[in-house]
Amino acid sequence: MDKSKTITAKLGIDVGGTDVKFAVIDNNAIVYRSKIPANKESVDAILNEICDECKKIAKEYPYSSVGVGVPGIVYDGLLTTINLPFKNTPVAKEMEARIGMPVAVDNDANCAALGEVLGGGGKIYRNAVLITLGTGVGGGVIANGEILRGRGCAGELGHIIIQSENGRKCTCGQTGCLEQYASAKALVRQATEAAGEHPDSMLAQLYRENGELNGKLFFDALHKNCPVAEAVFDKYLDWLCVGIKSFQMIFDPEVILLAGGITKQGDNFLKPLKAKLGEGINVKIATLQNDAGVFGAANLSM
Ligand SMILES: [Zn+2]
Repeated sequence: MDKSKTITAKLGIDVGGTDVKFAVIDNNAIVYRSKIPANKESVDAILNEICDECKKIAKEYPYSSVGVGVPGIVYDGLLTTINLPFKNTPVAKEMEARIGMPVAVDNDANCAALGEVLGGGGKIYRNAVLITLGTGVGGGVIANGEILRGRGCAGELGHIIIQSENGRKCTCGQTGCLEQYASAKALVRQATEAAGEHPDSMLAQLYRENGELNGKLFFDALHKNCPVAEAVFDKYLDWLCVGIKSFQMIFDPEVILLAGGITKQGDNFLKPLKAKLGEGINVKIATLQNDAGVFGAANLSM
């Protein structure tokens, strides 16, 4: 075989509710990127547009396999989503028929966890948990170097119940889920409630000036030593610790990686969290963040 013609690049696709991101990964680095809007009309429409983009990219940057991360449940090769039209759709088969190349498909959070472990801060680990703190709490688990899938739903980290009595109602139908207390959205909600209770605080002043609070305003108040913001953050970290300690006990990972906009706070976020967790839990901020999904997807075929 002519070695000069060996293709080492792989294509990773991250299907989101609004966009579909594409990245060609070669030698553990992203060498090409593109993005198209997610067509929600029909399964055929979205698959045709994704596959057209795949063919277009192949002309510019040849690759030898395709991996796709999707926001839904993948079980026995069948994909079902809530925000997109897939229902028991054999996505890999459908795409292989269109582009004539092996295609692997998995849940997007699982892809992100795999991406962080292979190409990010968790590079040297075989057992890792990725927790993404955003509107919700998402994540994925890598056990013995492989994605933990269960029947397609394993690693729904945000929906472990941490408040069994009078817990907040969750979008999943349960009450008292971790997501209701430890997401970035939950932090902003807790800050807004505290601002209402302490009208003389800096937090309340920022609320009045801006008509609402967001993550940035909250951390502004925290960095200016607003005692109300400090109390909110302390309680928030307590909730997050309940989740992290539980995951450590269940999965015994070498590392727990944290992702999401809130982790941009860096050491201001990590240091107090580590102080609360104590020894024995290796918690780090994920490095790939928004690129983790395409990176992991490209490596699904491994
Ligand atoms: Zn829930």
